[in-house]
Amino acid sequence: MEYTEDLPPKLKQRLTQSQSVRAITGAGISAESGISTYRGKGGIYDDPEEGDRTVESLSGPTLAADPDRTWRTLAALARQTRDAKPNAGHLALAEIEKSVADFVLLTQNVDGLHRQAGSKEMIEIHGHIFDTLCPRCRKAGHIDDLATLEKAPSCPECDGTLRPDVVLFGEMLDHGNVQRLHRGFYEDVGDLLLIIGTTALFPYISEPVAIARQRGKLTIEINPEPTVVSNIVDYSLRGAGGHWLPKIAAAIKR
Ligand code: NAD
Ligand code: ZN
Repeated sequence: MEYTEDLPPKLKQRLTQSQSVRAITGAGISAESGISTYRGKGGIYDDPEEGDRTVESLSGPTLAADPDRTWRTLAALARQTRDAKPNAGHLALAEIEKSVADFVLLTQNVDGLHRQAGSKEMIEIHGHIFDTLCPRCRKAGHIDDLATLEKAPSCPECDGTLRPDVVLFGEMLDHGNVQRLHRGFYEDVGDLLLIIGTTALFPYISEPVAIARQRGKLTIEINPEPTVVSNIVDYSLRGAGGHWLPKIAAAIKR
């Protein structure tokens, strides 16, 4: 069922019983913080050429062939992110985490806004743009001045070319994260699943929704536009994360 304004009373009632919550987020939850999404209205795929260029430069093969190009694209993303603050949606998810017994957040975002909002139990499945990894000596690091970077940074230890600790297009997910994803979203799926601001095109994003639904759990999508999971979920809340998530947090806390 689709809703656009308020939570229906029956849903509010069910939310008061939620104790074990799973949340999945994508770029859309950060749209109200001023960070562009990839797809959907206002996303960079609205301009297909820019979309293609971005995807190409944020890919494993480009990082290997022309790391400066990949890093310049990440720097552009960092400039958008630098002044961004968590919005009501990020904050409501952190609040939900505090008020229930068990909570896991799976995010595809690399902007760090969930961390800033105070979320703790988090799987950042695509990594974090400000984290780095040296492919040569394996040292992990953090880069503060990413926004002003003009070329690929070097490792302070061994002078190798650093890579961003993000999963680029065409790359494999981190094994440890995949294990956590399985535990939290395939094995113990909780009693409520929220999916917010994602086109859900990756199977590891849409499958947990199908699994939760099959097991009779409460499933809710928040997105201004229909997606591939809209037909699977119990409730489609049409609109922004910042509109709906505070209402959901308030209902859970009652
Ligand atoms: P996407 O760009 O494919 O889709 C964004 C979705 O958000 C769309 O379905 C859109 O309708 C919805 N949306 C737009 N405004 C919204 C709002 N205010 N509230 C709720 N939903 C809203 O995003 P995706 O599915 O996350 O896939 C994009 C990929 O690109 C991910 O892998 C992610 O790592 C990466 N990415 C990350 C960021 C970021 O970290 N903020 C930004 C762009 C892309
Ligand atoms: Zn090194």
